[in-house]
Amino acid sequence: MSERAAPFFCPYCGDEDLRPNEEGHGAWECRACNRAFRLKFLGLLASGLTARRDTGTGAPAADPDDGGDEAI
Ligand SMILES: [Zn+2]
Repeated sequence: MSERAAPFFCPYCGDEDLRPNEEGHGAWECRACNRAFRLKFLGLLASGLTARRDTGTGAPAADPDDGGDEAI
């Protein structure tokens, strides 16, 4: 299985009626809005390995200054 997964939705109109386009690899066409588009892999994100970790809290990152109590 060397083919990349097919997109599920048109990025323009959100319809699911997508067909491979004759342009070639990664090219798709939407039968709902008659748009043709191409999916392109740009590369790996440098921060992707750690930034995607889901802690479940959604807490913002700590203040990088000192971490101590600051009187406002
Ligand atoms: Zn569409």
